[in-house]
Order: sequence, then structure tokens, then C-alpha cells
Amino acid sequence: SAKEAISKVYKEVLSEDKKMSEQERGKVADYIPELAAANPEYFGISIATSNGSVVSVGDSEIPFSIQSISKPFIYGLALKDHNDDKGFSVNNRVGLNATGHAFNSILSITEKEDHRQNPMVNAGAIQVTSYVKKGSENNKWTHALNFINSLTDGKTFLGEKVYRSEAATNQNNQKIANLLFDYKMIDDNPMDALDRYTKACSIMITSKQLALMGATLANGGINPLTKKRVLSANQVRDVLSQMVVSGLYENSGAWWTEVGLPTKSGVAGGLLAVFPHKYAIAVFSPRLDKAGNTVRGQAVIKKISQMYNLHMLH
Ligand code: GLU
Repeated sequence: SAKEAISKVYKEVLSEDKKMSEQERGKVADYIPELAAANPEYFGISIATSNGSVVSVGDSEIPFSIQSISKPFIYGLALKDHNDDKGFSVNNRVGLNATGHAFNSILSITEKEDHRQNPMVNAGAIQVTSYVKKGSENNKWTHALNFINSLTDGKTFLGEKVYRSEAATNQNNQKIANLLFDYKMIDDNPMDALDRYTKACSIMITSKQLALMGATLANGGINPLTKKRVLSANQVRDVLSQMVVSGLYENSGAWWTEVGLPTKSGVAGGLLAVFPHKYAIAVFSPRLDKAGNTVRGQAVIKKISQMYNLHMLH
């Protein structure tokens, strides 16, 4: 059963972990003070199927900040919000290619002739966040949070502490937002777009809820719990494609080759992999490698991909 499988993987990863050097085990993100305070030993795995059943092991009920795993979904929301706009195509304005640079690179923006960065790295994500429209709530942030909730069980919320901690220390992202504004790539006031982006990164989620978000993608855009269509099949395809291109930052190509599943990581230690039409796997473990990807999370998904031969090009 799925429960036995993830319990086995959970134990294996924990015991391998004990044999690793401190450097191999990685460390919690320290550039956002509130993340540096995280318990490095948290470890949870959840699998949600495209019909909405979830099995978990470990710390699957502990909320952590979603961080960059919000990026594919906010990109999906921007696509959705502009679906019927003639003359405005999100995909014609944002980058769709790998950057080969770190997720927060400024050099990558300036050196590229059209400056466009994909929506899985900070620049592209801040850009698409500026394209989110006001929803029925008449407020762009509430619209974004409600959208995230519509992909899962409706119970995620803004983590005020993480948000304040990150907002006080995100000078690099401020530079990025201002650069994008200067290059006429964003529509809003750049600090408003950045504020919404920072809030989206500070949404608190458990591995269970994250697996359900992935299950909505695996289910072609229909939330298996509510049975409501949240994204169209084409929007899901675009979202998953960008996760393939850049979901694990500069390690995305190696990851795709080895694992072959669209995956997205976040610096609080979340990792979400989607096996289209079947299920999604979410892992939470705060210790990160140099690129900012959770060490145990990667080990878990690699093992499951190998055990079940999940590589999509196999
Ligand atoms: N909020 C983080 C930042 O902008 C997200 C980084 C991440 O998860 O990769 O730095």
C-alpha cells in the first residue's frame, strides 16, 4: 500500500541521514530570520491521489511556509486571470526558459537582452504576481490566498511572523522588483507586487495540504475534494512545464534526468512532485542543500520515483 511504501522510504531516509556528514545533511535557510528558527528535524511525507485520498507519515500536520512552492500556483492564477484578455498574454511577457542562475539572481535579469525570467525564480514570480487581478473580493492579495485555498482544503493562511520577517529583510527582492519596473515588465507599483509575492511565500501549509494542491494538478485542474475546476487543462500543462524547466532552481535539469517528475521546492523545506493523472507527493524537511532544495525531500522523491518507475519519459 501507499502507506507502507512511504513508511519504508521515511525510515530509509532517516537512517541514511545518520550516516551523512553535517554538510551533506544540509542546513535550514538562514537568510530569512524566521526560517532560521525552524526545527531542522521536522520530517513529513504525504501522498494525495487525483481522487483526493491522502496518506501521510511523520510531521504531516505541522504548518510551514510554502515559500517558492507558491510560484507555480500564482503563475497558474495569472494565466487564469488573463485567460480571456485579448492582446495580453502572460506567456508572451514572462520568460519560459531555464536561467541557469540562482533563484534570486539579479545578474540573470540584467545580462539577458529581453530580461525575462521564468515564473519559478524570484524575478519571474514577482512579475506574474503583478499580473494577478482583483478578484470578486476586490483585493489582489485576498484573491490570491483564496485561489491557493481553492486548490486544497481551504485552510491555509498567511503566516504573519514569516511574512514580517521576510518583508524586513528582502532588500534583494526589492532590487529585483524595481529593476522589473524599470524594464517595464510589471504593471503595478513594484513594491505592491513584491508585497503580494512575499505574502504568497508566507502562506502556511502542511505536507497534507500541499499534497492536495499537487493532486489538483494531477487531476487536470479539478480539486478532488470540492470537485471544482480551479485551472484549465492547458493552464495545468503550462504550470507543470515550468516546474520541469526550473522547479529545483539551477539543479532542475539534473533533477529531471534522474527523477522525471515536475517538482517544485521552497526554502522552508517543502517539496512537491506531481505524477500527472495519478497522484502528488509532498515532503517537508527544513534542511537544504546549497541550491536551496530540501535534502531529505529530494531523497524521498528520488526513491519513490525509482521504486515505481515514475520517470515520465521512461
Ligand atoms: N520568499 C523566498 C524569497 O523570495 C522564496 C525563495 C524560495 O523558496 O526559493 O527569497
